[in-house]
Amino acid sequence: MKIKTILIFIAMLFIFTGCAQTKTPDVFDTRDIMNFLLEKNAEYVSSDKNSADVSKEKRTDTAENGQSPYAVIVTCSDSRVPPEHIFQAGIGELFVVRTAGNIIGHFELGSIEYGVEHLGATLIVVLGHTQCGAVEAALSGEAHGHIKAIVDEIISCLPKNCTKEQAERLNVQNSIDRIRASEIIKELESLDKVEIKGAIYNIATGEVEFLD
Ligand SMILES: [Zn+2]
Repeated sequence: MKIKTILIFIAMLFIFTGCAQTKTPDVFDTRDIMNFLLEKNAEYVSSDKNSADVSKEKRTDTAENGQSPYAVIVTCSDSRVPPEHIFQAGIGELFVVRTAGNIIGHFELGSIEYGVEHLGATLIVVLGHTQCGAVEAALSGEAHGHIKAIVDEIISCLPKNCTKEQAERLNVQNSIDRIRASEIIKELESLDKVEIKGAIYNIATGEVEFLD
């Protein structure tokens, strides 16, 4: 009787552990990764919780065996734009680069190169968002201190009299263009080993829309 109880407990533990494991996308298939991110984003929109793996076991595993993130997410520092929640991602899944306005300079470019060249991520997503303060500052032309450097970078890609929505998208495209200035990434992209996609996160609905 006692042995039977132990066996049932072990079986239940196995089933529970199996269910708790996160299915991760095929890192060599960027379409699969995009679909996975969209699926996880839909979960985020319809749920109040993040179901991702942030367990002690996952911490131990990634500390001992290293990281293999499937995507690099370049996004804004805005506290309403939390990438790991938006995509229901746990430890070791996303390599995240954040600056106000998701702009790209040398440090950010080096970080992205590391994420794809050394860690093996194959999809780079530049994730802009609605109601971005940096984009709004660029449209109003008002900034001081080091913030001005950020705003000037965004202004450089905007035509006169563009709407806020257009500015958000053009700023994402500008960051993609900056990323393509990297010889390392340009070569990986030409070999179909890396894909760069733009997207907009709606801070009110929680939805991510990929741009074409
Ligand atoms: Zn922003």
